[in-house]
Amino acid sequence: MSSGNGAFPAWVIRGARPLGGAATDLVLRDGIVAETGAGLSADGGRVLDADGLIALPGLVDLHTHLREPGREDAETVLTGTAAAALGGYTAVHAMANTEPVADTAGVVEQIWRLGRRAGYCDVRPVGAVTAGLAGERLAELGAMADSAARVRIFSDDGRCVGDAVLMRRALEYVKAFDGVVAQHAQEPRLTEDAQLNEGVMSARLGLAGWPAVAEEAVVARDCLLAAHVDSALHVCHVSTAGSVEIIRWAKSKGWRVTAEVTPHHLLLTDELAASYDPVYKVNPPLRTAADVAALRAGLADGTIDCVATDHAPHPLEDKETEWQVAAFGMTGLETALRVVHEAMVETGLLDWAGVADRMSVRPAVIGRLDGVGAPLHGGALAQGSPANLVLYDPSGREAVDPRQHASRSRNSPFAGRELPGRVQATFLRGVPTVLDGKLNGAAA
Ligand SMILES: [Zn+2]
Ligand SMILES: [Zn+2]
Repeated sequence: MSSGNGAFPAWVIRGARPLGGAATDLVLRDGIVAETGAGLSADGGRVLDADGLIALPGLVDLHTHLREPGREDAETVLTGTAAAALGGYTAVHAMANTEPVADTAGVVEQIWRLGRRAGYCDVRPVGAVTAGLAGERLAELGAMADSAARVRIFSDDGRCVGDAVLMRRALEYVKAFDGVVAQHAQEPRLTEDAQLNEGVMSARLGLAGWPAVAEEAVVARDCLLAAHVDSALHVCHVSTAGSVEIIRWAKSKGWRVTAEVTPHHLLLTDELAASYDPVYKVNPPLRTAADVAALRAGLADGTIDCVATDHAPHPLEDKETEWQVAAFGMTGLETALRVVHEAMVETGLLDWAGVADRMSVRPAVIGRLDGVGAPLHGGALAQGSPANLVLYDPSGREAVDPRQHASRSRNSPFAGRELPGRVQATFLRGVPTVLDGKLNGAAA
């Protein structure tokens, strides 16, 4: 038997449970799952005992802030993709709100190259919708799509494309290259100075309210716009029960609308703000238990297509300050799978095949990573699938310690909280980026 293409040895994964099903062996060779079955071996190949581990296709994040270029004090492509690998990810989409903004072919190609150099996972840049995220004129969408980075998702994330005419034009423009516009739905006037979900908690704490309608009004408008021009809309970080209802309605019409939810919105509520700890300050804000229940139900029934982290690293000085002035955002790459395990699997809402679908298969389709001339993600772990996978140990619970994270930032809302499970290994095209829960330097 061949031991591979010469550059990398084959791997025999022994006794893993693909998608949580029956245990089997997997041989990874030449970047693909070369064989599956019982009692497999590979001459010269290394063996990984995966007894009791669940094998999932490598996770795909549609929403990551890698902060480079410009805010390397918060994160870099190298540290952010290392964090992604430790979380089980093999592909991430890097949001465009860098400094400079990723609004030209030059900037998106720079980020794409930094990702290739880092080697921990595939980095697909998201292009800005408007030049400089200024919301005034469209960025060079076609040039970014045609660039080496092959941008397919466009978003002004961090800001809402508030102008309905610009949003319509962007939706029309991306049709030419099968792109999608990902909207950060936040009506600006309804959220001026807003700090926390508008409701009982914001009133009690004296923090300016962020009403659900500020999100839902934009989601509804954009669903209607996407239908009007027959284009693809993706709704970022859905956070309210009302948004879930609107998206369910849009999908029932057959409109091309997809949506994501973050791990933190699946597990945490606005009651945590009672501590005034800005680690819980995030955009969109944490909502109520009723919203969390609706988001979980929406993810379970497929109304919400996928989980996306909105990993938003910030340095200490921007977070460890008063609530009012602290930055919005939470890290998430290194805890996402464990949070989904607790919020969706332990509750019986999703099985592991469902987790694979919502964290790998569907985001790969939305990000156009499902194989049309691109490196493949979201495969089924069958023979011939790309050898992008994560091995996850579902047993045990452990407290989250951000000091052990590869992310350059520490603003995890799960710090000190016990979560189930552990990412044991991650493979990118048959090469381990993570082994025994630790970064495998050889991959970089
Ligand atoms: Zn956002
Ligand atoms: Zn974001």
